[in-house]
Amino acid sequence: MLEGRMMHVPLTLTHFVERARSLFGRSEIVSRLPDGRLERSDYGAVAGRVARLCSALRGLGVRPGDRVATLCWNHARHLEVYLAAPAMGAVVHTLNLRLHPDELAYIAAHAEDKAVVVDRSLYKLWSAFAARVPSVRHVVVVPDDGPAPEGTIDYEALVGGAAADFDFPRLEENAAAMLCYTSGTTGNPKGVLYSHRSCVLHSMAVCARDGLGVGNDDTVMPVVPMFHAAAWGLPYAAVACGAKVVFPGPRLDPPSLLELLERERVTLTAGVPTIWLGILQALDREPKRYDLSRLRSMVVGGSAAPAAMIDGFRERHGLEVLHAWGMTELNPLGTVARVKGTLQGRPAAELLELRASQGVPVPLVEQRHTGDDGRALPWDGKTFGELEVRGPWVAASYFGDEGKDRFTSDGWFKTGDVVTIDPEGYVRIVDRSKDVIKSGGEWISSVALENALMGHPAVLEAAVFAANHPRWGERPVAAVVLKEGASAGEAELASHLAAGFAKYCVPDRFLFVKEIPRTSTGKFLKTKLRERYGDVFAAEGGGEP
Ligand code: AMP
Repeated sequence: MLEGRMMHVPLTLTHFVERARSLFGRSEIVSRLPDGRLERSDYGAVAGRVARLCSALRGLGVRPGDRVATLCWNHARHLEVYLAAPAMGAVVHTLNLRLHPDELAYIAAHAEDKAVVVDRSLYKLWSAFAARVPSVRHVVVVPDDGPAPEGTIDYEALVGGAAADFDFPRLEENAAAMLCYTSGTTGNPKGVLYSHRSCVLHSMAVCARDGLGVGNDDTVMPVVPMFHAAAWGLPYAAVACGAKVVFPGPRLDPPSLLELLERERVTLTAGVPTIWLGILQALDREPKRYDLSRLRSMVVGGSAAPAAMIDGFRERHGLEVLHAWGMTELNPLGTVARVKGTLQGRPAAELLELRASQGVPVPLVEQRHTGDDGRALPWDGKTFGELEVRGPWVAASYFGDEGKDRFTSDGWFKTGDVVTIDPEGYVRIVDRSKDVIKSGGEWISSVALENALMGHPAVLEAAVFAANHPRWGERPVAAVVLKEGASAGEAELASHLAAGFAKYCVPDRFLFVKEIPRTSTGKFLKTKLRERYGDVFAAEGGGEP
């Protein structure tokens, strides 16, 4: 082999910190505090504080590879820990504040966190499991809604009292940088340990125009929490290109978010569908209230974005939704639903269909889907199979080595998502493999039904799940939340679906509920629905579906 003659420079997040400091010192970082006030900072100030935080953490005895946990909302200090822990050779471990204390105790103990940085507003939550995490030696409190409690270290005092000059160590690119746990609905959460290299390469994909397209002139507002899969890589991507960042803190209701989007002239934002469904309703109620003319991209992922929502934003408010699929195990971005140049001329309905799909892989991510025998299936847009991916930011194993069965012997990661892939490479998620509905030997896609139901004008949200059925094995049942003041009956919703689905796919029951149970990261919790309503057909003999 004739070797190339180029430099081997390790790909590390430290470069992003130095770049932001030396080139983009005046780019703003805005954080909303729990009381609603906005706190303004910039990359220059944050980079200086990152160096101090590194000195301080080293002074506390944090060593390379140690895990520094965060239990924080989205704000500038959280970003400082995101940068400082990896830059000093340690690992930032984001704890999900929506989890139960028992789950948090399990995760923090499993990660063997050495120190924890916790918001004062979340201190009560920390106290509920602190005793069960003996590895934690230092509790650092961000005084967001009051002073740090006794026996803890005040974050501001810690940073303020530390040496300003810190020589960032020269790290290997494969050194661990961040630890995120999956929020699985079954089994224990599993740790995914990102490396500097995976975070850097992932950031490049997030910045790429065919990725999420984050650039220096953007104002980025990650609504997706920083404890959910690195806020989809947006914080690191924003630092990489010096983009202004707006952190919404704990106020995630539609009026607060809309006001912030308008006031800070946000250009790119991201979150789960529930957030945007709420925003769409608010905009529909008062279409002229907010000036969102700067907002060019709303990234939606984490669960399927209903086509009606994507269309509603565009048609009624001139706003572009960018649908993306990812997983904690992928750092997390995998696919993005952009319409390829060669498909631009297609009819409007087809274009919407492409934008509502999960899209095609971003550069460096490869995909295939396989059947039960492990063989790759055809990209025909019809055949169901489990999505498998590989690439430089896909987990090669879990931290602690659980879940070995998710990694194939030929080097792919099994996502657990059941999909079709069409001849152009567009992926469509049919279901999580555990949520798939099998009725009389036929597979039914709950995601497709949910999408169609959410296209009905009276429906706010819908989750379709499998209920046991004495004759058909399983039958689909829909849990539906109606919009405020709207009405629609079972027969109407069934006929709405019958227009687009084979008869056997249409749910046999529509349950009208106040809300749909969710996971800590905003996904429908179908296990709960099955627990509660899984036996609705038990008493019936079962007729033709
Ligand atoms: P998490 O690790 O919490 O990000 O969850 C990853 C899982 O969320 C994926 O395996 C999918 O089941 C689901 N998911 C993420 N993005 C999407 C999307 N755009 N459409 C449908 N499901 C999604």
